[in-house]
Amino acid sequence: MDFDLSWLLLGLPVAFVLGWLASRLDLRQLRLENRQAPKAYFRGLNFLLNEQQDQAIDAFIEAVQNDPDTQELHFALGNLFRRRGEYQRAVRVHEHLLSRGDLNRADRDRAQHALAQDFLSAGLLDRAEVALQKLEGTRFENESRLALLAIYERSREWAQAEAVAAKLDASDQASYAARRAHHLCEQAAEHSTRGNADEALRLLQEAAQLAPQAPRPPIDTAALLLRQGRAAEAWGTLSALARTAPLALPLYAAALQQAAQGAGEQAAATALLHERYEAEPSIDVLEALMALEASMQSAVPADGRPAPTASRDRYLEHLTRVPGSLLAASRWLAGETLRDDARTHPPVQRALDQVARPQMRYRCAACGFEAHQYFWHCPGCQAWDSYPPRRVEEL
Ligand SMILES: [Zn+2]
Repeated sequence: MDFDLSWLLLGLPVAFVLGWLASRLDLRQLRLENRQAPKAYFRGLNFLLNEQQDQAIDAFIEAVQNDPDTQELHFALGNLFRRRGEYQRAVRVHEHLLSRGDLNRADRDRAQHALAQDFLSAGLLDRAEVALQKLEGTRFENESRLALLAIYERSREWAQAEAVAAKLDASDQASYAARRAHHLCEQAAEHSTRGNADEALRLLQEAAQLAPQAPRPPIDTAALLLRQGRAAEAWGTLSALARTAPLALPLYAAALQQAAQGAGEQAAATALLHERYEAEPSIDVLEALMALEASMQSAVPADGRPAPTASRDRYLEHLTRVPGSLLAASRWLAGETLRDDARTHPPVQRALDQVARPQMRYRCAACGFEAHQYFWHCPGCQAWDSYPPRRVEEL
């Protein structure tokens, strides 16, 4: 009996140790198998390659449940959800990743970036903004600033847009000066409508310094000065602009004419407009010229001096320069006395006006969006400076 007992006392710990070792070996074997053959993962991949996204997601969910530490699978799953438009599920996956304490810095940034993408894709701009702001100082910084800039521009938050563009100006290789000038002009317009003209002028001045070649700051400045009755300053601004940005003249020809009349600079303005019209015929420049000539004509006493060319002849001249100009044709007809006028003129005029009206529009060179108003920022494609400063007929 004593002999048996001693063997038992010795055998029990040995059996225990052997059993423990065997269980460890089993576990290792199991982990090795899991690592070597994550079947669910490969099954998911296979489904994905066969464009069977539903089955792929099921397989990936199974894989994530079997091994919750696999962040790569989480990322793959989150991106799949987003691509399918299942934003809530994508957000849940990425938020779950972010909540994990064992994630390294690079993966945390990546999850934050993916979360911002989810919100952007879902159109939840407020939440996207917060998620993007958290990417400052990461390798996604530049990309997130660009996305923030797009959000602020879309929601017309111009001060914030300018602040982000200023950061991009400092960090990115591209120049954002022209875009920042637009942001300042937009802020100036808001101040101007609120009656805060001084602040508007200050912002416009800042915009002009930031982008000296951009035509918008002087054009907006002159418009504001004209509204304040400061014609001489407006004339100074626009006549200087005519030297730096002559191609944009059709946009400010009317303002230049008004400023010149207010400042008594009709002769200089006529010469300037005439020279530009000769170089590049444009209906806007022509009409500014005609308005100036008419004002000079009415100011000159009838002392026998030859009158400037009559308006309607100018339209005919324009028709020879720009053959097929419906704008010139409809304007010429408007002043013409036709035979049997009362009966035939109105319908003919209406028909011509109808076909001429689309020719008056401006067209975005980036997306083709057309509008009667000139836009610095295309409402169709959100591009800046994408509208040529000429009417559709003159493109
Ligand atoms: Zn556009």
